[in-house]
Amino acid sequence: MSERPNLVRRTVFPDSVSRAVVTPLQPSVVYASPDPDALDAQYDGKTRGYTYGREGHPNADVLAGMIDRLEGGEGGIVTGSGMSAVTGVILGLLGQGDHIVGGNQLYGRSLRMMTQDLPRWGITSTLADPTDVAAMKAAITPATKMILVEVVSNPTLRVADMEGIERLAQEHGLILVVDNTFTTPYGFPAYARGADVVIHSVTKLLAGHSDVTLGYVLTRDATHRKAIYDTIVTLGLTPSPWDCWMAERGLYTFDMRFERAQANAAALAEVVAAHPAVEAVLYPGRPDHPDHNRAGALLNGQFGNMLSFRLHGGRDQANALTRAAPQVAFAPTLGDVGTTLSHPASSSHRGLTAEGRAALGITEGFFRVSVGCEPISLLTNDFTNALNAVAAP
Ligand SMILES: *Cc1c(COP(=O)(O)O)cnc(C)c1O
Repeated sequence: MSERPNLVRRTVFPDSVSRAVVTPLQPSVVYASPDPDALDAQYDGKTRGYTYGREGHPNADVLAGMIDRLEGGEGGIVTGSGMSAVTGVILGLLGQGDHIVGGNQLYGRSLRMMTQDLPRWGITSTLADPTDVAAMKAAITPATKMILVEVVSNPTLRVADMEGIERLAQEHGLILVVDNTFTTPYGFPAYARGADVVIHSVTKLLAGHSDVTLGYVLTRDATHRKAIYDTIVTLGLTPSPWDCWMAERGLYTFDMRFERAQANAAALAEVVAAHPAVEAVLYPGRPDHPDHNRAGALLNGQFGNMLSFRLHGGRDQANALTRAAPQVAFAPTLGDVGTTLSHPASSSHRGLTAEGRAALGITEGFFRVSVGCEPISLLTNDFTNALNAVAAP
C-alpha cells in the first residue's frame, strides 16, 4: 500500500488580498509562537499575541472591545457567564476577613453567593436596601471593602439611590461594583459615572438572543484588573470563542433592539395597567412607580424593557395567564429579542418563604415581563387575550 497523505499536519490558511467582512471565528485553544524570545516579549506585554485559550482569545477580545465602547472604558474582560463575572470580581478583589455590602434584591444567584457561598470562604456580607442610602451606610463595618449593587432591582424594578451610593463608596473608600445588566450602559452609564467595576451578564440584553451565556467585567484600576483577570484564568471562568462570536453578532443590533423593546414596554405597561384583572403594574416609566422621579433623573429617559405586574388572585390566575399566552415564552430569563414572561414565586424567588416574598410584594399573581421587539399590536393582543382569560370566571 502506498504511503498515506499527511492529514495531521495543518493545512496553511490561504492568504488573500480580500478581507472577510465578518469577524472570523477562531476556535483554536493553542497558539504557536516562533521562539521563546517571542513568547517572552508577548508575556511581558511588548507584543500582542495569544498562547492558550483560557488566558484569552481573539473572539473574546473583539467582543470585549465592543462592550468597552458601550461603557466608555477599555480593557474589559469577557467571562463564561454573568455569574463567572460576579465570581471573578468578588474572589479577585476580596479575601478572608473582608466584608461586602450588597443590595437586598440582587440577582438570585448573586444573593446566594453572598449569603451561602462567601461565608464558607471567609468573606462576610450584609444585604441592605439600595433605595435607602442610610440603610446601606448602616451596613458598612470596619471590614467592608466593597459595595455590590444593581441599579434596577429584580423583579420589583425598584431604582437604587445611585447618587447616594456613589458618594457613600467614595467617602468610605469602598470598591463600588455595579451590575449593569438590567439598565445597560444606555440606561445607566455606570463606568462614566465613576463605578470602580462594572459587570454585565452579556447573556441578557447585550447578546439578546438567548443562545449564549457570557459575562463581562470592566475595571478602572489596573491592579483590580490584574487581580480579577488572574482569578478568572485560574478558576477557568473563560468564555468560548463560539459564544463570543454569537454575542458579537447579537450586539450589532443592540441599539435598535433596546430602543424598540423600551418603547414596547412603555406601551404595554399602559395596556396591562388598564386591565381589570391586574391589581398593579410596576414600571419605572409610570408616574405611579415608587421611584419614578429617581428613574427619570438617573436613567436618562431610558426606563428599560422590564415591567412587572400583579394579578388579582393567586396561582390559579397565574396558571390561566401563561396557558392563555403560549406564544409568549414562559421562561425565567430576560433580554431576549422576543418577549418572555417569568413568575418569580415559582422560579427565581421559590427559595423564599411566602412571607419573605410578601415583604417584597411578590404574590402568586406576580409576573415579570421582559418585553421584546415584536410589533406592539401583537403584544397588546397577546396580553389582552391572556388577561381576559384570567378575568373570565
Ligand atoms: C442573569 C443575571 C446574572 C447572571 O448572569 P448569567 O449569564 O446567567 O450567569 C447576573 N446579574 C443579573 C442582574 C442578571 O440578570
